[in-house]
Amino acid sequence: MFRGFRWRLVGLGGAFLIGLGAAGAGERATSSGNLAVATDARLGGDESRTRFIVDVSQNISLTAFTLADPYRVVIDLPQVVFQFPAKTGESGRGLIKAFRYGLVMPGGSRIVVDTKGPVRIDKAFVLDPIDSQPARLVIDLVAVDREAFMRTLALENRTRRPAEPKKTDRDAGAKAGDQRPLVMLDPGHGGIDNGTTAPGGEMEKSIVLDFALSLRDKLEKTGKYQVAMTRSDDRFVPLAERVRMARAQSAALFISIHADALAKHEGEARGAAIYTLSETASDAEAARLAEAENKADVIAGVDLSAEPDEVADILIDLAQRETKHFSVHFAKTLLGELKTSARLHKHPIKSAGFRVLKAPDVPSVLIELGYVTSRQDLKLLTSESWRARATDSIVQAVHTFFAKRLAGQGPVPPVER
Ligand SMILES: [Zn+2]
Repeated sequence: MFRGFRWRLVGLGGAFLIGLGAAGAGERATSSGNLAVATDARLGGDESRTRFIVDVSQNISLTAFTLADPYRVVIDLPQVVFQFPAKTGESGRGLIKAFRYGLVMPGGSRIVVDTKGPVRIDKAFVLDPIDSQPARLVIDLVAVDREAFMRTLALENRTRRPAEPKKTDRDAGAKAGDQRPLVMLDPGHGGIDNGTTAPGGEMEKSIVLDFALSLRDKLEKTGKYQVAMTRSDDRFVPLAERVRMARAQSAALFISIHADALAKHEGEARGAAIYTLSETASDAEAARLAEAENKADVIAGVDLSAEPDEVADILIDLAQRETKHFSVHFAKTLLGELKTSARLHKHPIKSAGFRVLKAPDVPSVLIELGYVTSRQDLKLLTSESWRARATDSIVQAVHTFFAKRLAGQGPVPPVER
């Protein structure tokens, strides 16, 4: 549903590129020793003009811009250690509804501010520390109408080109001469995007990362597969980038790992479920879930216009159909195995339009391990013994999937990659 909108970076001709140079793009601070620490955030003002202030241990560079649909202000910073008090950003004031913060890439942090309507960034600057006062990052927002907002957006589009996604060493892909199939594991969310959160504060992004790391170790130990991950630490990776990585490395199987949540009024649900890609959702719950999972980029303030258009090609369409058979085949195999180790949802195989499952040539499934909002599920999700059993089952399903393919059973693999 988000493809229809145009998402663009907005600022005013680079007016909000502050302090680039010494502390600019070249900065790649990784040791926490010299990283700035953000200790507090405050909001002031009203619904016509709102000031957003962050206390930081040292002066840092900032880039601020707006995004539409929904209206957001994105503040990009060098890597910052956030030590805000609990619940910071959960509620707002004036033009600001809420905000979140976290790592978006090595060396880069981000604050994404949800605004109540269209705004203009009136001022964005950083004050040096004075005496006992920390450095302060200040953003002034003023209310504008949508027309003015969109005008600024269009203007900015002509001057600012979105950055090309950079190739990384992780794109090296299958090692030359290594004939083993490559399995790509995709722990959902990460960095600024926490995913779902349990009532006690446990976060989906950490639960699924722990699970995926343990699954990686087990798969590697078998010696039968090359294993790659879309992320192996707490960083944000856009959905399209996850798909791109799987394709670039010619993954033979893509397994996305998530944990679901239900709001109180949505009732109770428990158990793991496996999802494959389909144009129309298999049921209302699958549709709700896909919509929630597809929001990851919006949450992190990703400029979706930077993504290449999906290739409209009949061949891709055919490949997709064939890939879909494999995906469904693996989902069923996985279900058979998980039955023995995990509690399953009452409708354990479903499908919907998950953006992360859209590689046309990589069989892809998304596993929802359970519900962080269910007390019993959460207990399992965070337990070592459950994780051991569930990862064993997935390894077994991977074995069966590839054994059948090598034996020429099951659907025929697509020849072209
Ligand atoms: Zn998720």
